Amino acid sequence: MALIVQKYGGSSLATIECIQAVARRISQTKKEGNDLVVVVSAMGKTTDDLLKLATEITPHPHKRELDMLLSSGERVSMSLLSMALHHLGQCSISFTGSQSGIVTDTSHTEAKILEIRATRIKEELARGKIVIVAGFQGVSIEKEVTTLGRGGSDITAVALAVELKADQCEFYKDVDGVYTQDPKQYPHAQKMKTCRYEAVLEMAEQGAKLLHADAVRFAQKHALPLYIASSFDDSLGTYIGNS
Ligand code: ASP
Ligand code: MG
Repeated sequence: MALIVQKYGGSSLATIECIQAVARRISQTKKEGNDLVVVVSAMGKTTDDLLKLATEITPHPHKRELDMLLSSGERVSMSLLSMALHHLGQCSISFTGSQSGIVTDTSHTEAKILEIRATRIKEELARGKIVIVAGFQGVSIEKEVTTLGRGGSDITAVALAVELKADQCEFYKDVDGVYTQDPKQYPHAQKMKTCRYEAVLEMAEQGAKLLHADAVRFAQKHALPLYIASSFDDSLGTYIGNS
C-alpha cells in the first residue's frame, strides 16, 4: 500500500462534470489500496475572477483581505470534491490550509511555508479517509490566512508529500505529460516517459506552465518522485526524478 499525493489544477476542476470525473479517478486510486491526500486548486478561472472583483473596488486591495478573498476559491473546490466522493460511497474530509497545519511566514499573497503540522491529516488517513486539502494557502505564525502566490498549490502538494513521506506526488492537468518541445508550437514534439528534475525546472523557469519552479526545486531537494499526467484521459504521463 502506498501513500500518494494527487494534485488537481483549476482546469481539471472547472465544472461539476470535471469534479465528478476527478472524484471517480480518486475513488479508483483508493480502491487500488492506496492512502490518498488530494490537493486542489480553485475551479477554472476562479482566482482571476476573485482578483478582478477586488480590483473593481480598489486598485490596491489590502493584502490581508486579498488573502481572505483568494483563499476562498480553493474552499469551494475542496468541499465540492469531497461531496462528490461521498456520493461515490467514499469517506473523505476536506481541510483548509490552516486546518491542514500549513504554517507560513507573514508575507501576505506570497507567503512561504515554514512548517507543516500534519497531525489532523495523519489522523484522518489513519481512519481510512481520503483527505482533500485546499492548495495555495496556509496560516501565518500570526494566525492569519495567507496565500502562496499564483500557482502555489503545486507547492502545497510537494510540501505535503515530503512532510507525509509520500511515495509519489502526482499532478493531473490539462497537459498530459512533459514533452521534448512545447507541443502547442511543435506538433511533432514527443511525450517523455521519464524526465529529470533539472529539465522540468528549466522549462518552468522559461515560463512553461508545467509545474511551479519552487515545487520542482523542493521535490528535487528531497528526491520526491513526481508524475504528471492528464486529468481527462488515462494515457501514461511522465515520471520526474533524478534519472
Ligand atoms: N488558484 C490559485 C491560482 O490560480 C492557485 C493555483 O492554481 O495553484 O493561482
Ligand atoms: Mg488556479
